[in-house]
Amino acid sequence: MTTKEINENVLIAQEYKNLLRNTYQSLSPADKKLIRLAFETAVEAHKDQRRKSGEPYILHPIAVAQIVADQIGLGATSIAAALIHDVVEDTSMTIHDIELLFGEPVAKIVDGLTKISKLSKDKRVSVQAENFKKMLLTMNDDVRVILIKIADRLHNMMTLKAMPEEKQVRIASETLYIYAPLAHRIGMYNIKTQLEDLALKYTEPEIYTDIERKIIDSQDERTDYIKNFTKQLQEHLTKERIKFRTEGRFKSIFSIRRKMQIKNRRFDEVFDRFAVRIIYKSSPKQEKFLAWKIYSIVTDHYQPNPMRLRDWISSPKSTGYEALHITVVGPSGKWVEVQIRSERMHEIAEKGYAAHFKYKHGKQDEGGMEQWLNRLKEVLESQDTDAVDFVKEFKLNLYASEIFVFTPNGDLKSLPKGATPIDFAFSIHSEVGQKTRGARVNGKIVPLNFELSSGDQVEIITSETVKPNTSWLDFVITSKARSAIRAALRTEERAIANDGKELLRRKLRHLKFKFNDKTINALVSYFKLKTSLDLYYRIGIGTIDNKMLKKFASEENSRFLQLFRRRPSDKPKSEDIDKSQISSYYDMLVFGKNQETLNYTLSPCCNPIAGDEVFGFVSINEGIKVHKTECPNAISLHSNYGYRILNAKWVDSSKGFFTGNIRLSGIDRMGLVNEVTNLISNTHNVDITQIHFDTENGTFTGEIKLHVRHASTLYMLVNKLEKVSGIDKVVRD
Ligand code: MN
Repeated sequence: MTTKEINENVLIAQEYKNLLRNTYQSLSPADKKLIRLAFETAVEAHKDQRRKSGEPYILHPIAVAQIVADQIGLGATSIAAALIHDVVEDTSMTIHDIELLFGEPVAKIVDGLTKISKLSKDKRVSVQAENFKKMLLTMNDDVRVILIKIADRLHNMMTLKAMPEEKQVRIASETLYIYAPLAHRIGMYNIKTQLEDLALKYTEPEIYTDIERKIIDSQDERTDYIKNFTKQLQEHLTKERIKFRTEGRFKSIFSIRRKMQIKNRRFDEVFDRFAVRIIYKSSPKQEKFLAWKIYSIVTDHYQPNPMRLRDWISSPKSTGYEALHITVVGPSGKWVEVQIRSERMHEIAEKGYAAHFKYKHGKQDEGGMEQWLNRLKEVLESQDTDAVDFVKEFKLNLYASEIFVFTPNGDLKSLPKGATPIDFAFSIHSEVGQKTRGARVNGKIVPLNFELSSGDQVEIITSETVKPNTSWLDFVITSKARSAIRAALRTEERAIANDGKELLRRKLRHLKFKFNDKTINALVSYFKLKTSLDLYYRIGIGTIDNKMLKKFASEENSRFLQLFRRRPSDKPKSEDIDKSQISSYYDMLVFGKNQETLNYTLSPCCNPIAGDEVFGFVSINEGIKVHKTECPNAISLHSNYGYRILNAKWVDSSKGFFTGNIRLSGIDRMGLVNEVTNLISNTHNVDITQIHFDTENGTFTGEIKLHVRHASTLYMLVNKLEKVSGIDKVVRD
């Protein structure tokens, strides 16, 4: 052995000792035996490997195990799994070998970890999103897989310097995109902060060093201030015989950076607030009482800002976070944030999952973590959510702050900010969501897209005949509601398609065509659709009607004759096909939040076509002009005439609902209103959203707002209404 090798062995042995010394949970002799075996297996398996930095490879799994044992606070099974997490991937050992040596739980975790690291490391967002989804899916088996994966990522971030630059940026961005939010959601605040700061160091090195230097420059002054403040506090608290310790709290570089960006502020404007933590000893029973006692002692001496009181003890965050936050005017008139936490709350805030686990046995407390995992499970189980959407929604739910609302029985429900009655209904039960007809908030009927606020009492009105409709997707914000609505819409679509299929079978017989694959394929391509299901659906709903089928039949017959004449057919250019394909899917442009159909012209400067991302611009002389989002004129239009911009989007008129408005007038007579509403509700695929009638001196005027599937339905309705006796004018606007 060379001196270098001997030194390395000493270092390895030392790190192993540190690992055993600093575990959060106490280890039994059997635990220690398991960990020892894992250590020896890993040393043997990685003995010829080195990391990019030149270090012996084994130092990496030991470091990961240290994070798992100390910072995350997991037990022997996870520590052992962390030690051998790279063994199956990098050496000839198999999962089967691991299972024989360590038993099933360890083997399962290692298997999960190996699967994650085999996922392709692509630069594309969609692929990353897919990876992320798969990763969360493994969580269904055992959440420890994810926790160890996060520890693995943390150590890789700590040692990222040795990697080539191109890889550094990729790994760092992935960390910001996936791992930091995940750590945050699991409640591992410390690890999340470390991941974010390390990632920023590689994604924006200049900004990172700049902020870091400024923090160091102001450090002495800040430490003195905090020392002075806590010294005064200490006297008051000790007098009341409260057992506690204090710690200064410093903002992470990443969070300073984010604040500067969001609020567009300078460093010193963001970094002006001081923060102190009071961590007190307490029995479980006294916890809440003591927190408020400390609160009253602190506010006896320092003036609090009532707007900045946060009581996370009475209603913990869904990550499980509990604490009392107040902001007071400290010495020399500076704002100081004081966080009051018991030791238990502090541990949960620092370690998240593991601490929850530990305290759960003592107290019957169902923390947010379990609820969150259940919620996540429900979403994951609806397999066909698109991965990018999934991650987007997951992240939305992640950062959105929460609101708390009450059921009619007074139960508390937590929902993300911006949630609507529909989100609430689905959070109670998907049965309730599916049948939501209306909602009452604090006793008043509200529209379904009403934004709930904390403290609202929400009551859902259900009806057996109601079904979810597409417009709900425009305003629901929880992934649970979203995926349930999508699933219901698909079921409904399939039912319509089934009817359509039978209808088509009959119609083809009349036209003397066989109902077979060849005919169906010809129809699908004739109407520029993607699948036979699209075809059946459109026939079911009536957007492909008899006339269109007849036209198809005659063209098909003449094409057949042409074949006999042996004329070369000119093939359309591939580009043409593509464009027409898009326009057959997105055939209608709707404007604004209510997705109204309005008159418009397509602007010649960027020539948008159906399917492009577009917006409407209200011009003075020429009505609404539609531009592409990427039009060279877009930026100046947006910045100079923001108030004249209308959101616009292309929709598939056969699938979406859109709003129609009908106004009528005529001579009032008994039963007229009834007749009108009956007529409308007996028409297929129409929903009345608002109805209003006025009568005066024997005449009436009425206004009806509806949701319809297709513009043609609206024309049809206008025709029918005109024939009702007493009505003399019907206008669509
Ligand atoms: Mn690793």
